[in-house]
Amino acid sequence: MKEEELDRKGYMIDEVVAMDLPLRRVVQKLYEAAVGNVNKPLCLAAAEKVAEKTQKGDTVFIITGFPVLSKNVCETDGPPGAVVLAKTLNSVGIKTIMVTDDLCFDVVKAVTPKISIVKYPFDNDTAKEKTEKLFLTNNPSVLVSIERPGWNAKQEYHTMRGLNISNLVGKTDYLFSHARKTGVTTIAVGDGGNELGCGSIIKTVRKHVPYGAKCQCPCGRGIAATTPSDVLVIGGTSNWGAYGIAACLSLLKNLDYEHDGKNELRLLNRIINAGGVDSVTKESQPFVDGVPTPINRLVVDLIWAIANA
Ligand SMILES: [Zn+2]
Repeated sequence: MKEEELDRKGYMIDEVVAMDLPLRRVVQKLYEAAVGNVNKPLCLAAAEKVAEKTQKGDTVFIITGFPVLSKNVCETDGPPGAVVLAKTLNSVGIKTIMVTDDLCFDVVKAVTPKISIVKYPFDNDTAKEKTEKLFLTNNPSVLVSIERPGWNAKQEYHTMRGLNISNLVGKTDYLFSHARKTGVTTIAVGDGGNELGCGSIIKTVRKHVPYGAKCQCPCGRGIAATTPSDVLVIGGTSNWGAYGIAACLSLLKNLDYEHDGKNELRLLNRIINAGGVDSVTKESQPFVDGVPTPINRLVVDLIWAIANA
């Protein structure tokens, strides 16, 4: 595909991916800040980075899973994006390893039955040890984080409402900091600014996101995540951002992009059956960030349509 055509599709995909259908009212600001860092459509920038840094036989870590407070189960945003991206990578000969923690394990497992999953530890020292071991054993080329909590300046984790969830989260920030120290590429997808990798736009998050600079928990340092990423993708939901990357990667590699609304509903139903809930309604229903099923399916079909047009 000609570069011009690729750019045009990249912009169209970003426009769909970044639609603020969950009505958080901050997505536009976060999106603009992230584009300011790369001066390119975000999903395309991320896909190009992945293509540049990987070869057949390489391994990519995909980190996902965000807990819903009070229900203490994994939300529906994240794991579907992770599996769609993983399948795209697998189809060009790249191995993938999912990383999540104990709380989100069953939900991640439900959508990725054939992909190996690492249960990342909660305890600090064990997490650091595990990080070194994972890098040594698998030598990953790229790390991709999709809707994964990111710690703030005090290494505390928060919901968008500014509430503390540190006791529910394995500190996967260590994976990103290790990657950055050793020159391994990091890609992140977020939708609120409290996710791993959003440190790249921390000033915008602190300024515009409710609780960005001051949380509701005693730590008082806000929900803004501090760990940055090489390319940050902002979506209306993080799943859409991950689909956008997979769609752009398919365009770059001349593959059909297969994830459509029907497949989306299948994935979401598997998550619900494994105990996952929608993060906004906190109900066991195939919504994503409060976006009802038919609307979410429309967005997924639109990404599919642009990729396959
Ligand atoms: Zn706090």
